[in-house]
Amino acid sequence: MTGGAGATRYAERLDRAAVVAGEAGLGALLATPGPDLLYLTGHAPPPLERLTLLVVAPGRGPVLLVPLLERPAALASPAADRIEVLGWADGEDPYTVAAELLPPGPLAVTDQTWASHVLGLQEAAADRTFVAAGRAMPPLRAVKDEWELAALAKAASAADAAFADIVLVTFAGRREADVSADLADTLRRHGHQVVDFTVVGSGPNGTSPHHEAGERVIAKGEAVVMDFGGHLDGYCSDITRTVFVEQQPEEFDRVHDVVRRAQQAAFEAVRPGVPAEDVDRAARDVIDDAGYGEWFIHRTGHGIGLEIHEPPYIVAGNATKLEAGMTFSIEPGIYLPGRFGARIEDIVAVTDDGAVRLNEAPREPLAVR
Ligand code: ZN
Ligand code: ZN
Ligand code: ZN
Repeated sequence: MTGGAGATRYAERLDRAAVVAGEAGLGALLATPGPDLLYLTGHAPPPLERLTLLVVAPGRGPVLLVPLLERPAALASPAADRIEVLGWADGEDPYTVAAELLPPGPLAVTDQTWASHVLGLQEAAADRTFVAAGRAMPPLRAVKDEWELAALAKAASAADAAFADIVLVTFAGRREADVSADLADTLRRHGHQVVDFTVVGSGPNGTSPHHEAGERVIAKGEAVVMDFGGHLDGYCSDITRTVFVEQQPEEFDRVHDVVRRAQQAAFEAVRPGVPAEDVDRAARDVIDDAGYGEWFIHRTGHGIGLEIHEPPYIVAGNATKLEAGMTFSIEPGIYLPGRFGARIEDIVAVTDDGAVRLNEAPREPLAVR
């Protein structure tokens, strides 16, 4: 994306970031390579030991300090005509150079900034206060625009298509790692440029929500939790479905039905103005009422966009009010120790009067062979 509509998008984002930082009482937002820099400028240099630093301050134009050798690439980025791009040369101390660019007031550093850079800046600007942007200012990326919503919907549809493919492969007698590799292949086949995770948890391994697929051989009569996703054109997918191999293990039918109803209840609780924690509560109430509350061991969901996990978090204690355009997962689960897990995860987008699901893969328990 260069020039035209893209450039306007980044100009608007830079302006908004400066306003939000000012309203939060900050001197500036400082961004290093990562999702915030990408969001604000379209520039995605590799995160390295050499300092790249964007300074967005209320009432001044944005400044991007880059290693001299990366200056041509920075000048070619979509927002370059809105940013003053400065280079520092190998042999110079970049933190001393950066310190000269810092306005007065507390400085918010993006959460993904390497400790080496934060500590270098603190040393070079010892009279200044540095705070984590994620705590010091409201999230910039939580409400998505139409273009981002379309990108997330495309990634979700590709994940749905991957699920439709994976239920056709053989599970019984193969290792989790084999099915996991099949999942990665099918995500790529459906357009993902990056595969970030392909969890395959069979039988008791399904009770560990972030289980790494391993050597365990999947058997007939077991439940299998699959949680997979990656990046498609920069935006993330993340979906979970739980299947069974030919026959359902004892109690699976009931457990899966409770999870499905919990997921539906949370979905129906979503609308603008509702606190994020109420959506968590809606899912949790269904699982509590069914007597499985003790085995729902994680929050109900997380925001998603340029990152797999980002605000808003759908968790008890988060009073953030949902807004149209926010996107997040709804992924309740029940994990019966030593037996099996069941989780259903969809990405949803908040609309003016409710929510839409971006994932539409079947939510009934499916049999695989
Ligand atoms: Zn997770
Ligand atoms: Zn997931
Ligand atoms: Zn998730």
